[in-house]
Amino acid sequence: MTLSSQDVLKAFARIRVFQRGEQRAVHKPLLILLALARTAQDAPRMVAFADIDAQLKALLGEFGPSSAAGSRHYPFWHLATDGVWQLDGPPDFLQRPPAATPNLGELRKLHIAGGFAPAMDAALRRDPALRAQLAHQLLDAHFPETLHGDILQAIGLDLSTPIADDAATGTRTMARRDPRFRERVLRAYEHRCCVCGFDLRIGSVTAGLEAAHIKWFQAKGPDIEANGLALCALHHKVFDLGAFTILPDSYSLVFSQHVVAGEASRSMLLGFHGAGMIMPQSKDYYPGGEFLRWHEREVFKRPGRSL
Ligand SMILES: [Zn+2]
Repeated sequence: MTLSSQDVLKAFARIRVFQRGEQRAVHKPLLILLALARTAQDAPRMVAFADIDAQLKALLGEFGPSSAAGSRHYPFWHLATDGVWQLDGPPDFLQRPPAATPNLGELRKLHIAGGFAPAMDAALRRDPALRAQLAHQLLDAHFPETLHGDILQAIGLDLSTPIADDAATGTRTMARRDPRFRERVLRAYEHRCCVCGFDLRIGSVTAGLEAAHIKWFQAKGPDIEANGLALCALHHKVFDLGAFTILPDSYSLVFSQHVVAGEASRSMLLGFHGAGMIMPQSKDYYPGGEFLRWHEREVFKRPGRSL
């Protein structure tokens, strides 16, 4: 069976991700991206779970919520029910009901292997542009743009093949972003970083200052001031990586115990631990508690340092 590019993109767009409430569902996308990178590197189609276990753990630790790495074997098993993935192992073991997720030890001990279904694999292997499209589709649907480069780097996927904006494929169903979000958020914060006060302009243009979503756009965080923060590029990046969060009652900055900073970076990061953020010019724009709590729960690398 030969699949067209559109067949492949649609099949992956239909994959069910666990989105109970507003939990981030990054397990399947990260596993698919990892498998995609293997395809690009011409690695064998099937790979034993034990052989990518460490890499999955590291990926989920870096780009997933606090406890994600502990359930890293779920997508390896459950992706098979989405029709894009195939499992290999003792037949009686593979025949257990899909809901009966095996544990990490079973997957390792029984040498369970997984890989893209043959038709998917063939289509992805022969077409670098399709791999790039699929990677962008997954990144756009599940991660903010600030992290796309980091994720691609971490999985070792090079998307040097240029891709056109493919709104025509019908695979991108996300709501469009409000183009004025950035402008409104920067104005609310008087064009300065709410952590460090950074307010550089190049000529008359604000530079290196970004409007961050507290609750990610990918998690249906709205494009409103109360869900926005003006952050310099550095603080935006580490905020999206969960290095710090903001307490909803006191608006104090709390850094993660995982953050290690030497002398030079200390003043730019840990120096702000416990400090109050720089507030927006009107109370109407204060960060919403529900959004800050989402960030603390789904992004922040717990535990926090004590205040
Ligand atoms: Zn800053």
